[in-house]
Amino acid sequence: MRKFPSCSVTIKYCGLIKSEDKGQRRFKDQIIVVQQGKHHFSFICKGPVNFRDTFQFQSHPRSDDKPFTFVFYVNGLIAARLPMCCEYKYRNGITIDGKYEQFAIQNISGTKPCQKCKMGSEESAKS
Ligand SMILES: [Zn+2]
Repeated sequence: MRKFPSCSVTIKYCGLIKSEDKGQRRFKDQIIVVQQGKHHFSFICKGPVNFRDTFQFQSHPRSDDKPFTFVFYVNGLIAARLPMCCEYKYRNGITIDGKYEQFAIQNISGTKPCQKCKMGSEESAKS
């Protein structure tokens, strides 16, 4: 049984961090998202994405609450990495600055908090 079901992740591909790319990018970039954990490694999303477009994927279900990393490739090169304890942590979104490219998680639905986040949310609810 999967303890942590797959979540629906909505990402915005913001393109290059530097704004020198105005008008230059007319072709779609090949985006690959890989989810890498201690016990799993999966290609979860692949496709041409227009700069400033949003795309969605399902995260890989997990049977443990070990941390994992989303790795974003743009045209075959690692563009950004986002290590996390669980999807729940970023359910409200986050901007991911890579070396050259920027992505933003807009939201993640269907998340379950890991033990660490569960403790954290209980603590903040108390105060
Ligand atoms: Zn967590």
